Amino acid sequence: MQTLQQCIDQIAIFDSHEHLISPKAYTELQPDIITALFGVHAYIQHDLVSTGCSYRTIDAFLDQQNTNIAARWALIEPYWLACQYTGYAEAVRIAAHILYGIDVIDGAALQNASSLQTQYQGVSGYQRAIAMAHLREIQVDAFTWQPPNTSEVPSLLYDLNVQTIVDGSVVFDVLATHTSVAITTVQEYRIALQTLLRMHATAVVAIKTQHAYTRTLAWNPVDDADCEHAFEKHRSGVPLSPHDAIVLGDWALAVIVRQAGILDIPIKIHTGHHAGNGAMPLEWLSPRLLIPLVKAFPDTRFICMHIGYPYHDELLSMAKHYANIFVDLCWAWSIDPVTTSDFVRRWIHTVPVTKLFGFGGDAFLPTQTVGFAAQARTWLARTLQTEVDAGLLSTSAATAIARALLSENQHKFFRRS
Ligand SMILES: [Zn+2]
Repeated sequence: MQTLQQCIDQIAIFDSHEHLISPKAYTELQPDIITALFGVHAYIQHDLVSTGCSYRTIDAFLDQQNTNIAARWALIEPYWLACQYTGYAEAVRIAAHILYGIDVIDGAALQNASSLQTQYQGVSGYQRAIAMAHLREIQVDAFTWQPPNTSEVPSLLYDLNVQTIVDGSVVFDVLATHTSVAITTVQEYRIALQTLLRMHATAVVAIKTQHAYTRTLAWNPVDDADCEHAFEKHRSGVPLSPHDAIVLGDWALAVIVRQAGILDIPIKIHTGHHAGNGAMPLEWLSPRLLIPLVKAFPDTRFICMHIGYPYHDELLSMAKHYANIFVDLCWAWSIDPVTTSDFVRRWIHTVPVTKLFGFGGDAFLPTQTVGFAAQARTWLARTLQTEVDAGLLSTSAATAIARALLSENQHKFFRRS
């Protein structure tokens, strides 16, 4: 009989969140072994920095012009040794093992394996990495309205990113040109936003916003008259105060969320922990701040990303109560795998299992997604095995839940024809 791990390894994951660079950009990058594991916004850099490593040292470590891999590794080794057990580091260790057969990462191991990297370069290397991660479809947030042309990798699907609209920094002229709608009044701004969503409705899988990086998630209703002041200031190029930016953003978010409900496009919202270092205001990030919005627009489906860590408990209650709240474990397995495991166990016994999406690596390079995907599979198997061992689930129920979380829930939810 198959183990839970073996069963989970065979599931082609429906990956609901990555930031993968395009195959064209990847080809131009020609990542070496260090870039493949540690480069291009890799989260492990943030643990290295929180350990005390400087950005200058990380830049030198990632400098592909220097082909002395062992010397580059020596720059960060003390910091790596300090953070090697975190979830981010675990995903790097797993990727190094799967991609290059490395058991213990050090300068010699990376130097010896560096010639293997050629098989993970170019479009074929990109596809090879995706195949090794065993992903069925991959939803990518490229931080744009207009998805790149990635027809050479058909498993890539795209979100429509609206962060600049929600944080009030959108350039009206750019939106007006993109939508062919002049934006001289608040009413015309509404039409431009509605047009933006209609233009991309059939091409995108979801709307995405990570405005929790630039403002609070707290939302209040704003009518057209109360938006006028901030709108006119922004239109005439006067810098917005944080309050004005939130007024303009809250007004626009309501337009987007209403239109998303009409067009039946789900909206993904970053909740919880920030990537990076030295800039995270925890008071902006709690999922509970979204409740007025979720309540005001019951016909729109909201996906709270990253389990709102470290406010994940709120989401058990919110997703149990609100029919239009769904939760994504994307990035959570690597931020804090133990807490995420516990969260999944509690979810199973608290919230309908159909409302949870099991994986997104949140990575920029497919070689890094290989590590995140295997990490999620391992921790999910461990989590469900614990439930079986405790007599709380049968093995067949655990297997069914794994399939729901890694594939079936997303397939039904996103309903692409
Ligand atoms: Zn992300």
